Amino acid sequence: MKVRHVLGISGGKDSAALAIYLKMQYPELNIEYYTTDTGKELDETYELIRNLEIFLGKKITRLTASTDGDNHGYDSFDYLLNLKFQFLPSSQARWCTQTLKLAPFEKFVGNDPVISYVGIRGDENRDGYISKKPNIQSIFPFRKNIWSEDVINKAFTNKQIGFMLDSLLTIPREPAPDYVELLSQPVTIKFPVKKKADLLFERDTTITNALIYAFIKTTDYPLAQSESFPLLDNEDVLVKEDIFRILRDSGVGVPKYYEKVSFEVNGKTGEYARSRSGCYFCFFQQKIEWVWLYEQHPDLFQKALDYEKKGYSWNDNETLAELIMPARIMQIKEDYIKKEQDKKNQGRVSSKLIDILTDYEDGEIGCAACFI
Ligand code: SF4
Repeated sequence: MKVRHVLGISGGKDSAALAIYLKMQYPELNIEYYTTDTGKELDETYELIRNLEIFLGKKITRLTASTDGDNHGYDSFDYLLNLKFQFLPSSQARWCTQTLKLAPFEKFVGNDPVISYVGIRGDENRDGYISKKPNIQSIFPFRKNIWSEDVINKAFTNKQIGFMLDSLLTIPREPAPDYVELLSQPVTIKFPVKKKADLLFERDTTITNALIYAFIKTTDYPLAQSESFPLLDNEDVLVKEDIFRILRDSGVGVPKYYEKVSFEVNGKTGEYARSRSGCYFCFFQQKIEWVWLYEQHPDLFQKALDYEKKGYSWNDNETLAELIMPARIMQIKEDYIKKEQDKKNQGRVSSKLIDILTDYEDGEIGCAACFI
């Protein structure tokens, strides 16, 4: 069966940059683009998708959430909210990503063997919330290690060492002197698979990719059905600055909501912006982003607030009505300025769990389906 290559455009900067990057670097890949539209994105997101279609010269297929393709006059989010009796999603009850993003995507690909390209960057340390269906294989072109965790775990088990060493002999290029030694070294608790793989990629990315591809050919992974795979020679690692550069250089542009806006509170100045794509009311956003929404897009904030009239709230510890009390806004802004200052003073390193959870990559905690 023919392998399909797909790329989900979340509306965020990373998936957009990945589409541009793959078109420029690997024009031979016949990629199908799709977006799962919740109906609740910011206008800038829809503008980005339109600009991308022009650049790619291809349509980006819009997927909807309903089972029969008819949302009965509602956008996807409201259609599902009605089915959920107005029960708002939250980080504890996250029905939205599964039903609005993953289910339509899995329906779109059906049972076809699929390579799904995911724009997680080389400076991020996450796999995110991605499909685990066996006919869908995720590839991460912005990282040195382009493979998903399950592939790595299977390829470098100790029982594969013999196979890997035999495969190495078939590669027409001499590995670095200590490569064979490293490849032969068994995985243990003190030398886990991830460490072994990282070291092998560090020593020689191309050879390591060739070995993993040889292993994949013995499995049921979708890529086993491909004659070749051009990304095996890819050694690029792309980080946040590269993403912004790709968007600007291509003419597609950076969504306006990433641009920082100055604010003042009690004689101090700070800058805020939105850090992610996704629904304007997303419960993953930081408090300062809610304030940004309230001050920069009051119409959207009002709509977010209206959803809370049915008795549920977007945040666990306060309602939006409480969040926009003047004293609370001042406190959020002051806390944010202090936190930014602390980051600068400490060289941005904090080992406190609360800081990691609330400030992962400028607030990009959440899901790979929505925020890449
Ligand atoms: S952006 Fe947030 S609210 Fe929207 S589907 Fe994703 S996780 Fe849910």
